[in-house]
Amino acid sequence: MSGGVAAARTILTRLHEVMASRSTAQAKLNTVVEVIAECLNSEVCSIYLLREGALELYATRGLAQEAVHVTRMALGEGLVGTIGGQVETLNLAEAATHPDFSYRPETGEDKFHSFAGVPIVRRERAVGVLCVQHVEPRRYEEVEIEALQTVAMVLAEMITNAGLVDDDGALGLTAAQTGPVQVKGLTLVKGLASGYAVYHQPRITIEHTMAEDVEAERQRVYLAFDRMREQIDRMASQAEFGIGGEHEEVLQTYKMFAYDEGWARRINESIDSGLTAEAAIERVQQRTRMRMRQIDDPLLADRMHDLEDLSNRLLRTVSGQLGTAAAKGLRSDAILIARNLGPAELLEYDKRRLKGVILEEGSLTAHVVIVARAIGIPVLGRMRSFRTLVREGDHLLLDGDQGTAIVRPAAGTIEAFEARFAKNRERQAAYAALRDVEPRTRDGTRITVMMNAGLREDMTNLSLTGADGVGLFRTEFQFLVAATLPSRERQTRLYKEVMDAAAGRPVVFRTVDIGGDKVLPYLRHDDGPGEENPAMGWRALRVALERDGLLKVQARALLEACAGRTLNVMFPMVAEPWEFDAAKAVFEGQLAFLKTRKKKLPEAIRYGAMLEVPALAEMLDVMLPKLEFLSIGTNDLTQFLFAADRSNPKLAERYDWLSPAILRFLGRVSGQVAASGENGHKVDLAVCGEMGGRQVEALALLGLGIRRLSITPASVGPIKELISKIDLKEIEAAMAGWLAAPPVDLRGALISWAQERNITFD
Ligand code: PEP
Ligand code: MG
Repeated sequence: MSGGVAAARTILTRLHEVMASRSTAQAKLNTVVEVIAECLNSEVCSIYLLREGALELYATRGLAQEAVHVTRMALGEGLVGTIGGQVETLNLAEAATHPDFSYRPETGEDKFHSFAGVPIVRRERAVGVLCVQHVEPRRYEEVEIEALQTVAMVLAEMITNAGLVDDDGALGLTAAQTGPVQVKGLTLVKGLASGYAVYHQPRITIEHTMAEDVEAERQRVYLAFDRMREQIDRMASQAEFGIGGEHEEVLQTYKMFAYDEGWARRINESIDSGLTAEAAIERVQQRTRMRMRQIDDPLLADRMHDLEDLSNRLLRTVSGQLGTAAAKGLRSDAILIARNLGPAELLEYDKRRLKGVILEEGSLTAHVVIVARAIGIPVLGRMRSFRTLVREGDHLLLDGDQGTAIVRPAAGTIEAFEARFAKNRERQAAYAALRDVEPRTRDGTRITVMMNAGLREDMTNLSLTGADGVGLFRTEFQFLVAATLPSRERQTRLYKEVMDAAAGRPVVFRTVDIGGDKVLPYLRHDDGPGEENPAMGWRALRVALERDGLLKVQARALLEACAGRTLNVMFPMVAEPWEFDAAKAVFEGQLAFLKTRKKKLPEAIRYGAMLEVPALAEMLDVMLPKLEFLSIGTNDLTQFLFAADRSNPKLAERYDWLSPAILRFLGRVSGQVAASGENGHKVDLAVCGEMGGRQVEALALLGLGIRRLSITPASVGPIKELISKIDLKEIEAAMAGWLAAPPVDLRGALISWAQERNITFD
């Protein structure tokens, strides 16, 4: 046992007795300072607690007793205030030489030269300071500091239990943690929301810090480590970490930390000193946090994030507090806070109670964001370190128009926000009034505006928005929300209900697009190691063709659900024409089977493909004659054109949909499809990626000859309004000029073009 561990253990053993005694909290603290001073052979030991925003001397051995409850240091003031404010440790041979030193004559501390102090931390915030002082000018040994830090953990529990600081109140928090704060991020889904902070992974509350049985605590940690490592290994083998495109890097770091013997050893040592398993994990985490804070390196900060996640995972495992907020049941008016979420995780929440989502990472076309957009929940992303500013239950205003969140807003701000809310509702009402208005351009061309959907509930949006149909029904959403592979009967039922709800308007069913960031735990690629690039990996049609049982079942379900009606089916991620042929053959095979059974068949089957893989664009001459329709999935298409992972938050803002490269590409495809129509084979060309739902982007698409859009329901109104203001000839001519000689800022050029014609954007 090292010196620090031994010292901490001696102190903890004695503190155990103090805490078990029946004396008052003040008497206990008086004894605590005696015990610590004695064990560390220190002339002074003092405890300051945060009361009404200042650190008040609560108990001391060695300083003047008259100073108790008299000496108060503001956060940031003097050495004690610095420790509390910065939540950091100080260890000084000569206290007076520190730039923040502030002399308090009433304490009689002038004869003490050396000084060491550690914060008493509760939920990552200092609620007090424990310090020791010495006449002789010497720095305290590392082992002594460690002992102090361990003791501070136990003190945190003791003073909270004694009610000496408010556990959840304003005491113990800095202004940045109690007052209003505005945080800027990136708007992922527009909209406004007012609600209360709920953590997706609730914070763990540590009930007990002092171990009753050291060996039992050690066993608990061993077991938790085993379980956590198993989980990480499983994740690695599934390559389904679900936290965005940095999968590989993150996973490697996770593995490295999970197997880091140093980490395990330090936790073990903390247990040796008498802490419970939970407290030991938290103690080591606190120490790492403090160390990392001194190093100003964004890369390390990222790693710190990973370690925090892992440490929390270990804490959850050891304490058995495993569930997410979804499992516990959501409070009403909740704004969910997470580092990142998978689409399935979001769908677990009760949508009526969920008002908004704030992600520390996130990107525009990540599927979780598409799901949120589809169900009309505003989302902010790239809100770095948001979790350190917000406590569970804090009031939040989520402003998905400006890309900001206001934490604990002042009354005036709430009022202004309410006014904007009302304006927003008016705007929505104006869009709703466009429901029955046909989308026609100024020159009278009818544009088809359809909506994207994925769940049964989404279908109500069809009548609310007046969309021309569903241009993309993402069938995999049903797979994502289910715990096991949905049976044929369940699929048939859903597709039938969707067709019924569409009441004659067309619905384009896309066969399952799983893989990438839509991972199903029950459907894994069993051979070989996990994928390094899941977006370019075993997904969509690639899975469906290999597991053709999956596609057969879906084909049967779709054919049966559309009996007597028109089935529009399209295949995702077609890279080569034969893949389309193979998928179509599965449907035709099922159709033949149904015929032999004399079952009622669809009146017509229209086959389509998604253009998401650039290679397919080179094969359009071969592809188009096979198709009734082609739908461009700009989300995937742009990630492949730019070689930029769509769910990597670091790339979220790097490439613009309005870049000449993308627009030229789309323009070429649009031209080729139009030419094939002139030659007698008409193929409906649509865009169904998120791009089409944004006004400036939609303007560009119209200029490229696109006449069919399938967009998120909330965009139907704004896009219809835009269409009514456009003269197609004008925008086509302008677009042709821009593509021939691209301006530096094509987005800017489009916006100016619109402004000159009094066309405004939301
Ligand atoms: C796309 O890739 O643009 C698309 C519509 O499909 P998804 O977003 O579901 O991949
Ligand atoms: Mg796609």
